[in-house]
Amino acid sequence: MQTAYKSDTSRDTGLQPGRVMLFYPPGRFYQRGEDRSQGNVENSTATTMRAPNDLGYAAATLKAKGFEVFLRDYQTSRRTLEELLADFDRFAPDAIFVSITNATIFRDLELVARLKDRSPSVMVMLKGAIFFDPEQGLLDQLDLLSVDYLIGLESDFIVGDLARAHFHDPGRIPSIRGILYKKDGAWERTYFDSFETDLDGLPFPDRSLMENHLYVRPDTGEPQATVTTSRGCPSRCIFCITPTISGTRLRLRSPGNILEELRECYHKHGIRDFFFKSDTFTMDQKWTREVCQAILDSDLAGKVHWVANSKVKPLSLETLQVMKAAGCWLVAFGFESGHPETLKRSRKGTTAEDNLQAAQWARQAGLLTFGFFLIGMPWETREHLEATRRHIFQLDPDFLELHIAVPYPGTGLHQEAVACGLIKESVLGKDYFNAPTVGTATLSMAEIEKFRRDTLLKFHLRPGYIWRKLRQAGSDRRILANYFRFGLKLLKNTLGQAPKKGPGASCVLILGANSDIGLAIARQFAAHEGSNLILASRDVTALEAKAADIRSRFGVDVDVAFFEATDTASHHDFYQNLPRRPDGAVLAFGLLENSDPLRLIEVNLTGAASILEVVAGDFEARRQGFLIGLSSVAGERGRKSNYAYGAAKAGLTAYLSGLRHRLFASGVRVLTVSPGFVRSKMTAHLKFPKALTATPEHVARDVHAAWRSGKDAIYTKAVWRPIMWIIRNLPESLFKRTNL
Ligand code: SF4
Repeated sequence: MQTAYKSDTSRDTGLQPGRVMLFYPPGRFYQRGEDRSQGNVENSTATTMRAPNDLGYAAATLKAKGFEVFLRDYQTSRRTLEELLADFDRFAPDAIFVSITNATIFRDLELVARLKDRSPSVMVMLKGAIFFDPEQGLLDQLDLLSVDYLIGLESDFIVGDLARAHFHDPGRIPSIRGILYKKDGAWERTYFDSFETDLDGLPFPDRSLMENHLYVRPDTGEPQATVTTSRGCPSRCIFCITPTISGTRLRLRSPGNILEELRECYHKHGIRDFFFKSDTFTMDQKWTREVCQAILDSDLAGKVHWVANSKVKPLSLETLQVMKAAGCWLVAFGFESGHPETLKRSRKGTTAEDNLQAAQWARQAGLLTFGFFLIGMPWETREHLEATRRHIFQLDPDFLELHIAVPYPGTGLHQEAVACGLIKESVLGKDYFNAPTVGTATLSMAEIEKFRRDTLLKFHLRPGYIWRKLRQAGSDRRILANYFRFGLKLLKNTLGQAPKKGPGASCVLILGANSDIGLAIARQFAAHEGSNLILASRDVTALEAKAADIRSRFGVDVDVAFFEATDTASHHDFYQNLPRRPDGAVLAFGLLENSDPLRLIEVNLTGAASILEVVAGDFEARRQGFLIGLSSVAGERGRKSNYAYGAAKAGLTAYLSGLRHRLFASGVRVLTVSPGFVRSKMTAHLKFPKALTATPEHVARDVHAAWRSGKDAIYTKAVWRPIMWIIRNLPESLFKRTNL
């Protein structure tokens, strides 16, 4: 039987403590409840969003303390920021509880600040793996002014007591484990030294508050509940955050308690499919078999289906067979690598032979396999990656994911990457598939990303694999349709979204973002690459509104920064003080008309070269990145109406060309863009022929397409190429007589 939530029960009656709103913010799909892999589901091969169990547990414990709760997953339900604000105003919470990720932290904090502005008295609790006993340096990177509590240990056991203490007994707060609270303006941490062992004592996640139909089994599309079956892992893989945030002791729920939750899902919510959330479901095989036996002996036998994670060792054929009998249809293995050095140095405690044995046993037991692999460890060379590729094809799992190692703070991998000099910046705000390293000691990020894309394509496009998927789908049209959908997503992620040449664009700096063209290019990168942005300009106030618009439309992080092109002495500090290190920069500022020709040269050439020199130096040192420079067709031949502007742009074109030559060896790309006439606010008073005139959006589309296809220089519109050829080659004796 489920036991009542018993922490601090003496305080569970009496006062009506208040209202708590628990939510995942709107935006892209991050696995916010999965502390150890907070990846963006849109970038994955065949994963779907998991139910927000962290919110569900917190809501259940808060309700047990008498709080009124409101739970909503805005990101998975694709609700907007406006809907969140409307819910916030309507529910008028006394406290909010937000589940954050490494990648979304800056955007989450902006939202929290906005809510605090709306209701200054609201108490703010943030929950996330990065708050597990964090270093001060990490806290210093965050604007936590609007936040009251950071929860780093398992929030399910903490949030009820914390909220209760905050509203009714503040003196108790220092005794609550696993949190950071503010004392005299500084962050004070409590105790992070032990983990709760009585997992059966927790209430079940409150699924009556969740929209259960949103979280589905990937192949059938049927609702799939996440059921946490155990916590902690005795292994100490250096890339994994689990041993840190969940402990190295395996903590198990009793089979009866798990069964009771399954029965509640089945009978109360009509859910028949489950993801058993254990870091390693088969680590204690006696317990694994007991859980399976409990299902087999119950009224759920033959009626439920589930998937689970497993390490390849310890494992046995018998365990996999009883799992299959109890309804397991897919087992996910962390195979990680095919290279013995990587398996050894990762401290996985397994070998390639163990991987092969586990895959064979799973097939023998009639289970499908989901193989997870990891590339990009600091020591890896192309030989390591090739060994992993061969191993992937040898194991031939039914589903495949190839992750690029992310050095999460708190892991051995992070320490090793720092020691090797591979991390030169914060890992906060980085997307899961774009690790903030410069690659490995011998491979650039671009090479690793390309290897990932190529391997995923080669693996999934094999005729034998496609035939296997068709056979597995059988006559079930839902499965067929979902396989087709995942196939399209895979193609989009590997062929469409990624640049054919060059690096990723997880963060792009737009210099001159208040210009129509700069803003349109920023939108292209946000919409099509999911890039986070830094918008820089002299008018920061105007930028703030544009940044808010991009955030709410595209769900990316957007920072703004003051930038003055002519203050060249400030350019080094400007770049060093950016909120994050960009991996691409777009130079979009410019001055078209001015009575002082030197001013035109100062802005368009001197200012441009000054800041590009700073950015290029950083990219060259990191051996990654791209620069896009907006020059002009006016730079191709001086003419009477704008020769100072033309001279500056001629200089800029030559500068960009030289920079491209210099940076080629380091893998940094430089794209020169030469627009002709552009209808923008800067040219609103000028008359242009319609056929030769582009809109800022047109220019931005051309720029983005050229960046993707790895071009060095373009005209926009394209018709300017032949026109400029003629103008360039017109004899001077004729040209001086024209009225251009
Ligand atoms: S076995 Fe799995 S859960 Fe355990 S530390 Fe290694 S990767 Fe993490």
